[in-house]
Amino acid sequence: MNFPFHRSKRDQPEQSWIMRLLRPEAARSSPALFTYHLREKLGLKGCPLCRMVRESEEHWGWTLLYEFTGDPEIHERFARAGGLCAEHGELIRRIVESRQLVTPSGVARLYETVTRESLHNHLSAGGQDCPLCRYRRQAEERYTYFLADTLADPDWQELFTHSDGLCMSHFELVMKQANHEAAEFLRNDQSRRLRELLLLLQELQRKQRYDVPEPLTPEESASWHEVLWRFGGMHFDHLLVHD
Ligand SMILES: [Zn+2]
Ligand SMILES: [Zn+2]
Repeated sequence: MNFPFHRSKRDQPEQSWIMRLLRPEAARSSPALFTYHLREKLGLKGCPLCRMVRESEEHWGWTLLYEFTGDPEIHERFARAGGLCAEHGELIRRIVESRQLVTPSGVARLYETVTRESLHNHLSAGGQDCPLCRYRRQAEERYTYFLADTLADPDWQELFTHSDGLCMSHFELVMKQANHEAAEFLRNDQSRRLRELLLLLQELQRKQRYDVPEPLTPEESASWHEVLWRFGGMHFDHLLVHD
């Protein structure tokens, strides 16, 4: 298949997003690209995989609107699915309102087909199989596989230890892919994090009693935020990818 993207070397990563957009099951991002992004995410707050998955959803949304609102295959997929779910509809809205080169008419163009098909099929809402949810599952699968592989390396284990570590849901996914060494490292790492978190949560409660004058440490104050993302996954109320 020919893609109209041969502008410069800088566009190469974008090109692979497009490959995945059209044929996600056939395209694989490289381990080198993964570790490049991982290194950056390990220095940021919260679960690195939550961030990587979210960024890849944002890339998908932007690319879709920038290049593929005229693509018959995409139109068909959208019509069959009945459009995007609420969460991903909201993400697309933010992308259109915040990023360059994408406009409301792209959304109109895609959803014109969805609407027409619904009328044609006696108001069917489609299969309720959001294309972006499906893409997210594939991205998660790829990233958990790469991370499991990366964590077999002691140097990466060291870096990972000093990061915020994984949310429980991504921890479980990576464990399924990990070899013996990586699984042992990750299980110890996660259980250390939960034991520390447990102490912080207990101290937070104790020190908030009116008869305890001791001040909270920053870690104790932040522990209830941590436990929410650790068990629920991260929520982003702003875009991670900017122009
Ligand atoms: Zn996560
Ligand atoms: Zn969705």
